[in-house]
This record gives sequence, C-alpha cells and structure tokens, in this order.
Amino acid sequence: MDRFSFIEKGMGNFISKLRKEPLQLEGLYAAIRRLPLDHAALPVLETACASRKAGFGGEQQLDKVFENYLFPMKYRVLHDVSLASSTPFQIDSLFVTPTYAVVFEVKNISGELKIINNPPQLIRVLNNGEVKGFNSLITQVENNCTLLQDWFHSRNISLPIYGAIVLAYSKQRIELFDTKTPFLFPNAVPNFIRNLPIAPQLLDEATFSTLTNDLVKSHREYIPPPICLTYPEIKDKILTGVACPSCNFLGMQKYMKGWRCTQCSRTSPDAHKQAIRDWFLLYGGKMSNKDCCAFLHIRRQSATRILQGMDLRLEGANRNRTYSMFI
Ligand SMILES: [Zn+2]
Repeated sequence: MDRFSFIEKGMGNFISKLRKEPLQLEGLYAAIRRLPLDHAALPVLETACASRKAGFGGEQQLDKVFENYLFPMKYRVLHDVSLASSTPFQIDSLFVTPTYAVVFEVKNISGELKIINNPPQLIRVLNNGEVKGFNSLITQVENNCTLLQDWFHSRNISLPIYGAIVLAYSKQRIELFDTKTPFLFPNAVPNFIRNLPIAPQLLDEATFSTLTNDLVKSHREYIPPPICLTYPEIKDKILTGVACPSCNFLGMQKYMKGWRCTQCSRTSPDAHKQAIRDWFLLYGGKMSNKDCCAFLHIRRQSATRILQGMDLRLEGANRNRTYSMFI
C-alpha cells in the first residue's frame, strides 16, 4: 500500500482508543466550583488541579504526535489503557503492531531532571534549588512492560515490548546515568518508532485484529476515590444546587421544561446532569432520592424522573432504590 492510500484510509482508523479528561480532574473542578471562596482547602485543591492538568496536557501532546504522523507499517495506537494482569496497570499510550509493541509513559515535570539507576530514582531540581525525588520512571515503565507481556501471554501472544519515557515539558534539562530506557521529547517519537529493529511479522491479520479489539474491550476506566474522601475537610462545606451553564450561579430553579437561573434569567433543559455528575465525583457511592432532592433543591417526584432519565445503575426498589454512576 502506498503512502497516499494510507492517508485516504483516514488517520482515525489507526487510533483505536482516545484519551478522555481524567475523572480526578473533573472532580477537582467540581469541588473548586462548589466551595465557598474563602475555604482554606481551595489553594490545596487548585494546586492538585494544576498538577493533574499539566499531566493531562503532557499526555495530549503525545496524542497530537500520533494524530499528525502516519507510520508505514500496520499499527494501532491506544491512549490511556487500564488493564489487569497479576495486578492492575495503566499505560499512558500503547503503540502496537503485528511485530512488536511500545509502552509510552508520559511525564510533565518542570525543572532539571536527574535520573539515576542505582538505586533507581528520578530527582528534580527547580530553579530555586528545591530538590524532590520521584519514584523511578524507569522502574514504572519496566513494570508496565512486564505486566503487558503477561497480559499478552495469557492470550497466547508473544511480542517483543519496548518501553519509552516521553518528557512533555520541552524545556526540560535532563541528566541520564546508565539507563537503557529511552527518554524522548514528543517530536522525537516518530523517529524512535521508525528506528526500532525490523523483525518478521509475528501475528497474522486476524490475530492482530483480535488483539487490538481485546485491548480496547479489556480497558476498565480508572475510577479515582471521591474528592471528599481525599479531602475530608471539604465534605460539609460543599455548596449544593444546580449551576447555571451561562453564568455559573448555583441554585437554578426547576420549572416544567427544565431549569431557570434567578441571576441571569437564562434557561437550560438539562443543567441537572452536571450537578448529578458533580455529586458522584465528590461523594462517590450510591445516591438515594433524598440525596438528589437535597443536592438539586427539588421535590421527590422530580428527583425520581431526573434520576431515571439518566444512564445510572439502579439497585433496590421503591424507597430503598439507589443509583450509581461510576462502578
Ligand atoms: Zn445564570
């Protein structure tokens, strides 16, 4: 197949799984939106949010590389795959071909990095001299490669697996000592892939297609602990009510066809959906009709209609019925 027909086939065909905004980040946004402006935990939440956002931003830089480059071999890319082998593991991006697979771990850490191997450690030095140690990225990638190897073996697949670390922060200065694991900036990823040893094809077309389908089907979205479990001090201070999608005012009022904002007078047919999602991200577990009434400021009958109109898992009957969103 020539290059032109590859392009014609469409880039989207090569990306088998896209990356979504992490639930943890969405939960932090919900907590920040719903805390009184003077709450002491806000700066802590904002720092956590900025750090997770930077991580997600780094991962999206690698996504762009795979969106913009075509590779001449048969391949599939899967972003953010959570699988289970002897233990659950998560791969930031997986590049898989009928000949080999590559596990990419993305890090977005500012400052000067030193990676030492004995003992394995990543040390970050900021411009102000602050020094911080991180769990070794190399060990993390090696572990992920081993766990993926086990996952393949359990399906009678044997493929060489390479690991690489992508440093999304392009101004990174880095000192490496004695490591075989490549450290790459995103724009070096295509050449790294093209320079991997060319080996005979190990999987036929049908097996390769089954493998990629299996990888997608086996992914289980990572459900982080609810925000109020991580930050218990905010639990009793969360502001309730439905937020106005136009002006962010908390406390839209329910009317027959939807919600009306008392602040800007705009209406929304489904502003409750975000409020219900916020509740699950903040508190987790199961929501009762009573919880819904208290959080959305509505009556029992409206709560039943709203909860049953959403794609939630139901348990129990009548007054004992509960709903859950993330299982
Ligand atoms: Zn409004």
